[in-house]
Amino acid sequence: MKIAVLGAGESGVGTAMLAKQKGYEVFVSDKGEISKKYKEVLLHNDIVFEEGKHTVEKIFDADVVMKSPGIPDKVQLVQELIAKGIPVISEIEFASKFTNATIVGITGSNGKTTTTLLTHHVLKRAKLDVGVAGNVGDSFAWQVAKGDHENYVLELSSFQLDGIEDFAPHIAVITNISPDHLDRYEYKYENYINSKFRITKNQTEDDYLIYDGDDEAIVTWLKNNKTKATLLPFSLNNKVEKGAYKENNNIIIQTNTNKFTMSIKALALQGSHNTKNAMASSMVSQLLNVRNETLRESLEDFESVEHRLEPVLKINGVHYINDSKATNVNATFYALDSMKSDTIWIVGGVDKGNDYSDLLPLVHEKVKAIVCLGVDNKKIKEAFDNVVDFIIETQGAEEAVKVAYKLASKGDNVLLSPACASFDLFENYEDRGRQFKAAVRLL
Ligand code: ADP
Repeated sequence: MKIAVLGAGESGVGTAMLAKQKGYEVFVSDKGEISKKYKEVLLHNDIVFEEGKHTVEKIFDADVVMKSPGIPDKVQLVQELIAKGIPVISEIEFASKFTNATIVGITGSNGKTTTTLLTHHVLKRAKLDVGVAGNVGDSFAWQVAKGDHENYVLELSSFQLDGIEDFAPHIAVITNISPDHLDRYEYKYENYINSKFRITKNQTEDDYLIYDGDDEAIVTWLKNNKTKATLLPFSLNNKVEKGAYKENNNIIIQTNTNKFTMSIKALALQGSHNTKNAMASSMVSQLLNVRNETLRESLEDFESVEHRLEPVLKINGVHYINDSKATNVNATFYALDSMKSDTIWIVGGVDKGNDYSDLLPLVHEKVKAIVCLGVDNKKIKEAFDNVVDFIIETQGAEEAVKVAYKLASKGDNVLLSPACASFDLFENYEDRGRQFKAAVRLL
């Protein structure tokens, strides 16, 4: 069998390693430059590769093509492969054929990484043999090649799900759905929703689908479509018979005969969005028979994930919080929602078609001043002009932090939660978050 791998990043190189081990003839092709780290791996393992181009004849010669999730379906090469009937799959699809592990697949518009890492944290503490992969850490394929675990928690983007055929997680989680990445889905929200639900398409009666029962897009899809999996909703608004819900400031988890109750105040991750993430992780853990005590301890001592409502420092009684990963309005909604006192809000960057109207009540209630951190801040100024007294434009993290410092008084929060992508002023969201933190530490 011959496999061509398009894109020599984490998932591509992992696939190449696994394929080589399984006796495939492997050809890796990257249109850009391959990073030194990955080039060394390919050379060291005698894997044939090219960079700076795609030699189409060699790629067409493959029996199967693995495409990195970063390459859109609409590029000509992918379209031609599909037209020729050559399967174009994702790393997740390829790797899952070579493992019998129990798979927990986590998707959604926001909260994937947090829920994935939290779930992994609980399962590890319960002494399960468990790997974490997908968008986080080493690729799934590489881990399967290296030795395999009995369980995996996989963070799955819609792009990875677009490239599955037979992949079926035993437990699937959809954290929530709100419009994102629509440029990859012909600007049709419906296509993006369908893409997320591919996570359940091969599930059987023995499998589970955990989802946000308060999420309109999810509930509507489930009304109009079928899945064989057992449905387990979590809800902050309604009591559910099987699943998770909130009662008297406790979370109640009941997926089987076991019942788990825990005070929301005791959860390490605060904010209503994180309560939902904790509910999802708890349901997975309960299904995998983690003891209540272990689950409670893990939910209590989980440390926050970098760039996700990450506390940075308290200076002169002002809390500085890094939520650089909030690259859409929905994530920022929950960040503002979880602010307990007046907030100086640092926002802006590359707008992906944002509609800020959902934020207006929260901004009115909590935001004292807005510090814009982006090249083009017109939309933000227009949206909040009548709601906030101070809107100040800045062009760099250090400047933004200095301005926020001047505006803040004791007890306030300074929150970086941009609701936008970062590419106008930063390399990526991590770079933005790190520059913010460095600037705070310089104050
Ligand atoms: P993802 O991996 O899906 O991008 P992350 O866990 O990295 O999700 O969080 C991305 C952003 O969304 C952060 O700003 C975080 O605070 C926020 N967030 C986390 N969980 C949720 C949730 N359940 N709903 C909405 N926003 C969330």
